[in-house]
Amino acid sequence: MIEVKNLIKQYGNQRAVDDLSFSLEKGKILGFLGPNGAGKSTTMNIITGYISATSGSVIIDGNDILQEPEKAKKSIGYLPEIPPLYPDMTTKEYLNFVADIKGVKKPVKENMILEIMELTKITDMADRLIKHLSKGYKQRVGLAGAIMGYPDLIILDEPTVGLDPMQIIEIRDLIKELSKEHTVILSSHILSEVSTLCDLVMIINKGKLIVSDTPENLSKHMSATNRIYLMVHGEKETIESVLKNIDGIIHIEFEEEKEDGYITLTVESEGSIEIREDIFYGLAAAQCPIYELKVTKKSLEDIFLELTKSEVEDDDQEKPEEYGEIKKEENQ
Ligand code: ADP
Ligand code: MG
Repeated sequence: MIEVKNLIKQYGNQRAVDDLSFSLEKGKILGFLGPNGAGKSTTMNIITGYISATSGSVIIDGNDILQEPEKAKKSIGYLPEIPPLYPDMTTKEYLNFVADIKGVKKPVKENMILEIMELTKITDMADRLIKHLSKGYKQRVGLAGAIMGYPDLIILDEPTVGLDPMQIIEIRDLIKELSKEHTVILSSHILSEVSTLCDLVMIINKGKLIVSDTPENLSKHMSATNRIYLMVHGEKETIESVLKNIDGIIHIEFEEEKEDGYITLTVESEGSIEIREDIFYGLAAAQCPIYELKVTKKSLEDIFLELTKSEVEDDDQEKPEEYGEIKKEENQ
């Protein structure tokens, strides 16, 4: 369906995309996950032929996006970060316009527009000017435009940014629906979004692929370490010496002492080793009774934050979250 090889995009001395390769089969949903500035939009703009790569290749349905752009682009529907909507057109006029650009044949056009308006639930807004639509509806119209012509590959850049929770659920349902007939690539900086929607997740940071796997495998991978939270009555030194003698413990972190003699701490251990009994008997033998013991696995969220931590810290001030939305508003 799509094959991307060694993609590089250089802006001055900055690499926005750094040697990215992946391929995707038909009918799957792939999620690009990464913090702001990770290179998601740049990658999508290259895949869809909006901008050119510094080097590397993109092949869609057997057609190279550089060598045969017309053919390759026929297989793609794209919803960019800032959807190119015309505020003075009505929804239907706009979709007509998009259908013409995409070369949808006259005999099927009217039907396709009606069908896609149904699918994206914008039929009621057919005759309304786009500038009078709410944000959620505008996003739907953008999505309808991307689906026009029923391309094999639908690419959605942060499709739920700026929507309220109800609209987010609706758009996600729609994406699920679309994936029955189409291959979908979407981007997001929200982990829960890609992990609920996608068959395959690619975490990217600073233009580089950090890890790529199914959401299930990523979760497994991430619970490779267990965390055990403990509240124990006893001396810190005694507790520490007991725990240090238990196999499988990687890290011990003491919190501040709460009340007299009650110590709270977190123990990190290898995921495959059960150490709760050792902790129980060890502390009991040392006359340090356990008041609380709780196992907390590392969540996907923890891992994502860990993997992309440096980037978030570096780029925090550079691109506020609302950046795309503000620009979107100005554009319409
Ligand atoms: P994301 O979509 O993951 O937030 P982008 O692909 O928009 O990330 O940006 C990746 C990096 O490339 C960022 O550091 C951004 O500042 C930089 N960048 C994007 N577009 C340009 C451009 N036209 N000129 C220079 N730098 C750019
Ligand atoms: Mg982006």
